[in-house]
Amino acid sequence: MSSPGPRRLPTLQGRLVTTLFFEPSTRTRSSFEIAARRLSADVASFAPASSALAKGESLLDTVRTYVAMGAELLVIRHRSSGVPAALAQDLHATGHDIAVLNAGDGLHSHPSQALLDLFTLARHFSPQQPTLQALAGRTIAIVGDILHSRVARSNLWSLSGVGARIHLCGPSALLPKCFADFLAAMPPGCGPDPVPQRGKIHIFRDLDEALTDVDAVMTLRLQQERAQKHQVTSLEDYHRNYGITHGRLKRCRPGTPVLHPGPVNRDVELSSELVNDPQRCLMHQQVGHGVPVRMALLYLLATTLNAREDT
Ligand code: ASP
Repeated sequence: MSSPGPRRLPTLQGRLVTTLFFEPSTRTRSSFEIAARRLSADVASFAPASSALAKGESLLDTVRTYVAMGAELLVIRHRSSGVPAALAQDLHATGHDIAVLNAGDGLHSHPSQALLDLFTLARHFSPQQPTLQALAGRTIAIVGDILHSRVARSNLWSLSGVGARIHLCGPSALLPKCFADFLAAMPPGCGPDPVPQRGKIHIFRDLDEALTDVDAVMTLRLQQERAQKHQVTSLEDYHRNYGITHGRLKRCRPGTPVLHPGPVNRDVELSSELVNDPQRCLMHQQVGHGVPVRMALLYLLATTLNAREDT
């Protein structure tokens, strides 16, 4: 067996990483914190419920407080779209050289999840040498509550960027027709689109049609905390029409993997039997890949900070 390598790298030694999660999280927050510690950072973790936010302190003043304590890398999740970008702008405008990482903002984007999903798929299709080329020309179905999902939006950008074809499937209340034109907008955080040509998005209402001959299936949580009442008639109906089961997967190519960003509603978007089948359901692989992928992001940002300090 090859050596696992050092458990800790010194890259972020002496630097303070702060995770500011204004929305609940299990996987993203813990994996950013584990990643930061594996790079030898100090980690401060902000808990909104027991913070001075409860005394009326603003978001901006909260962030500036951590910056005053020496935070140089901020990892931020917020229920409103655009908050991490707005904070980064404010900090740069006030002369702070701080790196801000988006850990999920409203319905807008969840970039680190999309990267770990890409890595999981690349590793599945090309285990010896995971490369993005392994995804070109593959067909990926994204099924479920697309409307409320920042994970779906980020995956639309990343999958179309590496040349995959995308089938979107869900009821019209959770997948409006306008998603067919989603890629005509500008990718988040970019100027002109760096990808010369993106494939088309195909929208399906019928799950069996959407799954026919696909190479991978991504399912999404039914986000009841964001949904309006009556967007789905009942959870049983939803599972019958859009739930992924071993039986439904027979339409796909043999051995097609199923991804889910978690947390999962068992027997709603995925059958419990499938969640418990690690051969088909890659949820736990995705979680495991979250740590090295987030280490890579922190590593890249740290090298930028180091380079700026050296000039
Ligand atoms: N954990 C993911 C997110 O924060 C997916 C979800 O919550 O359903 O967007």
